[in-house]
Amino acid sequence: MAKGGQRGAVTRFAPSPSGFLHLGHAYSALFAQATAGENGRFLLRMENIDPGRCRPEYEAAIREDLEWLGLGWEAGVRRQSDHMDDYARALEILHGTGLLYPCFCTRAAIRAEIERSGAAPHGPDGPVYPGICRELPRAETRDRIAAGEAHGLRLDMARAKAAAGPLVWHDRERGRAEARPELFGDVVLARKDTPTGYHLAVTVDDHLQGITVVTRGEDLLPATHVHRLLQALLGLDTPEYRHHRLLTDDAGQRLAKRHDSLSLRSLRERGLTAREVRAMAGFGEA
Ligand code: GLU
Repeated sequence: MAKGGQRGAVTRFAPSPSGFLHLGHAYSALFAQATAGENGRFLLRMENIDPGRCRPEYEAAIREDLEWLGLGWEAGVRRQSDHMDDYARALEILHGTGLLYPCFCTRAAIRAEIERSGAAPHGPDGPVYPGICRELPRAETRDRIAAGEAHGLRLDMARAKAAAGPLVWHDRERGRAEARPELFGDVVLARKDTPTGYHLAVTVDDHLQGITVVTRGEDLLPATHVHRLLQALLGLDTPEYRHHRLLTDDAGQRLAKRHDSLSLRSLRERGLTAREVRAMAGFGEA
């Protein structure tokens, strides 16, 4: 039984190993750990599905930086690239619902279609996909796949939303939110270069890891609309959410990988202690 008989939250920090961690990541990781609390569990996940951008060197650096910062996570780091079977199984289930379709479009073809039609509704991730492959004749789809043409898989959003009906989730600070996944249009669930996408992998992982409170930056709040829908379609648990503020630089710009001077490595090289860096991120006194 946990201390005091009260069970804490299960949270995770889920960086993509495509660069070094900066102060904003430190904030996010500390926020996740604090949300788990003393009686909770804090997990680490490497979101490394992007073969072009993720590198093992960055994974090693992330672990080292988090350890230096004094963060302790539970044994058994989940590396997404080791779990492609889990995402394939989820795709199979979605296939069974008839809500997925193969998409052969290149970025250039999508851009050209948007320019041609003059209609470009914008979603949280940029222009909404104009549906080029949604109604392709079955025979054409079959032939193109048989010919080895690269394709991803998209969710037919209008039909998926209708199938799932109204959905809500709970954000600890913001309260009850109604899911509006339609803002994204037909999202990609499996990419051409890797057999899953961000939305699917995160939703499946949070379920399989038993995450009870998903904490992440408010830049990812819109993604929760899609994740809530996927939970409904796949019959998965819905965690609670906390979308935290983003740290900014002196000019008010949110921290990003280009802020080399605020990477945890360079702060450490400049002689700052872990305690001072935690304080810079708003956790504790220097
Ligand atoms: N991998 C994402 C990132 O580094 C976070 C994903 C999430 O927390 O849902 O921004």
